[in-house]
Amino acid sequence: MSIEVVYEIPATRAAVRALRDRGRVALVPTMGALHDGHLALVAAAHESADAVVASVFVNPLQFGPNEDFQRYPRTFEADRAALEAAEVDLVFAPGVDDMYPDGPVTVRVAAGPVGELLEGAVRPGHFDGVLTVVAKLISIVQPDVVLFGQKDAQQVFLVQRMVRDLDLPVEVRVVPIQREGDGLARSSRNRYLSGEERAAARAMPDALAAAAQAAPQGAQAAADAARAVLSAVAGVAVDYVAIVDPATFDAVDDRYRGPALVLLAARFGGTRLLDNAAVVLREAPQPERP
Ligand code: AMP
Repeated sequence: MSIEVVYEIPATRAAVRALRDRGRVALVPTMGALHDGHLALVAAAHESADAVVASVFVNPLQFGPNEDFQRYPRTFEADRAALEAAEVDLVFAPGVDDMYPDGPVTVRVAAGPVGELLEGAVRPGHFDGVLTVVAKLISIVQPDVVLFGQKDAQQVFLVQRMVRDLDLPVEVRVVPIQREGDGLARSSRNRYLSGEERAAARAMPDALAAAAQAAPQGAQAAADAARAVLSAVAGVAVDYVAIVDPATFDAVDDRYRGPALVLLAARFGGTRLLDNAAVVLREAPQPERP
């Protein structure tokens, strides 16, 4: 039997209602152009629930006017086949008119202060767009569990915040970052990279490894180490190297000890890549007293 694909919201609600007879329902939201990172979310969804729904929707609300919405890869036939092979029960693949029949919605979820940092500073309004579409998807599918990748750490943080702050009745499960053989985080945007840029992109996981190694010397040393690796590669434009407290997303300084997240964003040619890693920071060694 081939996988069921639905496009319209009422048909989706009806199809999910039928799936609910089996037990728990999981939702895996995606923008398509699927790779093994997405499929790891599907595998975790199967572990967490009895029926798995995947959504494929390139959400215009989360793209800025000069971003790659038009150019974003759309590979629906391949995505459908990959989701079928991964035994997804239902694919929700709405058009923009299904999700936003009256044009861009005017009522949106406000991501708040953390939504304005880092990715949100480079991409104003991005997280309001993300949270609005995630809230809509949760409202349409009403899953028991929704799955997100740690690859987009700030997104995960904000989705968890939204679910808590708005008391949305859903569990959020986070899946570790899936990587290529050389450590580059899998991303739908990797396909934009030229051969040379792809080779340079290895600097992203290398920078995280350098930060982890320097972490015992404190936050500044870890950030400097990551930045040094990225700066050594020709043609890389660093958007940010940030070290934050995972519980708050506040930037930390050398006084901070404990678990932290190192977050990177850099451009390789026209392609923006993100990556992050958990590290443990210790206080920077104090200068010896005379
Ligand atoms: P996207 O299609 O880029 O919106 O991604 C859909 C979901 O897949 C998001 O929750 C992402 O964080 C997750 N994802 C994308 N790439 C990876 C990866 N390399 N490892 C784990 N999760 C990922």
